[in-house]
Amino acid sequence: MNTNPVEISPAQIAETIQLLRDAGRQECILLWLGRREQGIQRIVDVYKPIQEADKDYFVIPRQGMAVLMERLRTQGLYVVSQVHTHPGRAFHSHADDKWAIVRHTGALSIVLPFFAESTTVEHFLQEAAVFQLDSRNRWNEVASENVPDQLRVTP
Ligand SMILES: [Zn+2]
Repeated sequence: MNTNPVEISPAQIAETIQLLRDAGRQECILLWLGRREQGIQRIVDVYKPIQEADKDYFVIPRQGMAVLMERLRTQGLYVVSQVHTHPGRAFHSHADDKWAIVRHTGALSIVLPFFAESTTVEHFLQEAAVFQLDSRNRWNEVASENVPDQLRVTP
């Protein structure tokens, strides 16, 4: 798929992990907000939307979506990727397919296992399961050897 790669800094990966861990033993969703730059999708904000969550689900209520949309509009950003945790292994559930916030072709949805308890900045890309939305609106897992083509951690 011809999509510009997502670029995120190590500090933003660290912030992502910290926010996911702070949620404790419940699922947590974060949104990577950014903008298009020449040849890349640059993450500028790691954003935790207002959400209701328990150990095996999350929901962004209508108010959370409204606050998000206002932020995107006023800051000129879009939701580049979403990241969420699972209590067990990382996969894309039917609910994840159906309720994904990111909907543009080539969008990434990243799932981290075990509430991100063992995730580190260095191993983020290895631990993460990365899914990409195709032009037929289906989520496909990106093979680990192809993840660096889609998602880069750069200072
Ligand atoms: Zn999920």
